[in-house]
Amino acid sequence: MSASLARDLACIDCGAVHALGYRLECGKCQGLLELRYDVDELRRHGPALLGGAGLWRYAPVLPIADPAHRVTLGEGGTPLLDCPRLATRLGVRRLLLKCEGANPTGTVKDRTSATAVAAALQFGFTATSVVSSGNAGSSVAAYSARAGLRSLVFAYERASAPKLLHMAATATDLVIYRGVYDDLIGLWDRLVEERLFFDCGASRNPYKHEGKKTLAYEIAEQTAWQPPDVVVAPVAVGETFIATARGFREMRDAGWIERAPLMVAAQATRANAVSRAFRSGGPVVPLTIGYTVAEGLASGHPGRKGAWALRLLREGGGVAGDAEDEAILAAQRLLAREEGVWAGPTGVATLAVLIRLLEERLVDPAQTICAIVTETGLKTEAETPSRAGTAFDEDSLRRLVRDRLGR
Ligand SMILES: [Zn+2]
Repeated sequence: MSASLARDLACIDCGAVHALGYRLECGKCQGLLELRYDVDELRRHGPALLGGAGLWRYAPVLPIADPAHRVTLGEGGTPLLDCPRLATRLGVRRLLLKCEGANPTGTVKDRTSATAVAAALQFGFTATSVVSSGNAGSSVAAYSARAGLRSLVFAYERASAPKLLHMAATATDLVIYRGVYDDLIGLWDRLVEERLFFDCGASRNPYKHEGKKTLAYEIAEQTAWQPPDVVVAPVAVGETFIATARGFREMRDAGWIERAPLMVAAQATRANAVSRAFRSGGPVVPLTIGYTVAEGLASGHPGRKGAWALRLLREGGGVAGDAEDEAILAAQRLLAREEGVWAGPTGVATLAVLIRLLEERLVDPAQTICAIVTETGLKTEAETPSRAGTAFDEDSLRRLVRDRLGR
């Protein structure tokens, strides 16, 4: 396995540099920290540095030094599907979908759970914790179990039954919480300082965050290092968006790709703090939010990462948009019928937002566009189709088949 080229942690606000270690904020200004790598080595060796399959193929650009700590359930290496039928339907030259539902627990979160739990081992922790609407909880619990660590998972009371079942099966300690994510995460973030558990939350931990950077590396490698013109990523707190944007920038700086794609930030309209700020030209203003079908995007207070996502959008000439719940559910049906991909509402919010931005002419359809579909639909709870059955004899069955197929 390849060595990690992680070199230090840099503050995204004041630029102060910190030695590698379990550190969540800048010691000088409390800014968020970003892992940095030996760019000269990356430039010198290029993609030849990569080896093996899955997420740990990108170990040189991940912060886990000892291969023994690199916990895996087979995450990463997810399909990048070319979708000509859907592209034609939307009037887009070429549409690619990065299907993250193919990860071991059915979500993109497995990428960050892998590096978070690996970092927990690296820094000698025996327990992990996370506050979750469902996907992160089951993913962190599964990876903690795989690594032999305790997991204290706080799950949203409205989490879907399949997600709750999954968490109950894999977590050592599952606690159901009432109220909204934004309130509990504020309290929980303060407890992180006491080091009772390893922080598997999305707000600050640069080691956890880093796993999702592999999305950018995979998309680039799957397109022969000529990545799409546009990449649409979801924003709840901003982890997937920021990590993907950083991955592309890192490859560009190391000369692995010529240019970084234009990034589009996708939110649910019912939790659209970043998208609103982008349109207004001002800072992110926290929102009090209600329920959205895109449960994983239900954050009205993205905190400092929201500001970071906004900064990346503005620096990179990106676009932000949001979609109503009805449009998200319509995109879910469209994707299932047109391409056979069954994704959850959180996962297809990117597609719904892309459709809206194309209608508003804010995204150029003459480009190659990639949307990240972050979760499977198999963990979604929704009204099931009618179970009223029909009994057949040979004649009635033949009539039905001929009638339905028009033969
Ligand atoms: Zn700082």
